[in-house]
Amino acid sequence: MTNLYLIGNWKQHGSRAAIQAFSEQWSFDPNPQLRIAIAPPFLYLQALREALPDCHVAAQDCSVHAQGAHTGEVSADMLVDLGCQYVIVGHSERRQYHGETDALIAEKLAAAQSAGVTPILCVGEQQAAREAGKQDEVVRAQLRSALATSQPNLLIAYEPVWAIGTGLTATPAQANDMHDMIRQEVSSLLGSSHATPILYGGSVNAENADALFACPHVDGALVGGASLEAASFMAIAQSASNNLSH
Ligand code: PEP
Repeated sequence: MTNLYLIGNWKQHGSRAAIQAFSEQWSFDPNPQLRIAIAPPFLYLQALREALPDCHVAAQDCSVHAQGAHTGEVSADMLVDLGCQYVIVGHSERRQYHGETDALIAEKLAAAQSAGVTPILCVGEQQAAREAGKQDEVVRAQLRSALATSQPNLLIAYEPVWAIGTGLTATPAQANDMHDMIRQEVSSLLGSSHATPILYGGSVNAENADALFACPHVDGALVGGASLEAASFMAIAQSASNNLSH
């Protein structure tokens, strides 16, 4: 195994006090093969970077615009300026509740790549598509659209929408099969010489992380709820580290 990635998505949670408490509890031996990042709300990026120098910071979104009259937007260049390593693009909550289309997501991906911050492209099917056996079709279409103009520097997170924040997790076999399909699709879209890391996201916690990290096609995890507490995020990081040493 080469590298594993563990990204915590704090969504709209956090405060200066929460960052302080998290950093006081955080104690994890850095492993050069395990890349850990946390994505707090924009305005806490700097505080988190200072409080947790061993971790990278990620943003939860970015603008398609480099600068200008776009009230409320944050550009990918600004994220780079702040020392941000990654940016989540196309999270299902942005697609569902903020009207983000595949075309907009492709533009955000390009904006991040040209600024030099690594995008984490989220893809995943709704429950109805999974029940109809259409999950591959849905995810393939998302990938084709988002990657049409993409450079090779990105991570992908497979996040079945029915598993996000619900306590339901894809089984290791479901995750592994989907990651295998994604890997083949990505290599035909971007060229097989680029090994794009594929993370799983959807109710990952300290109990199920081991089995997911043990899957050959799972290169890491995007974790929501269980990344808010240092203890549970450290336990997931420990599972990842254990899997690297196998
Ligand atoms: C997420 O926010 O991307 C996520 C996977 O959330 P959770 O781990 O809470 O399901």
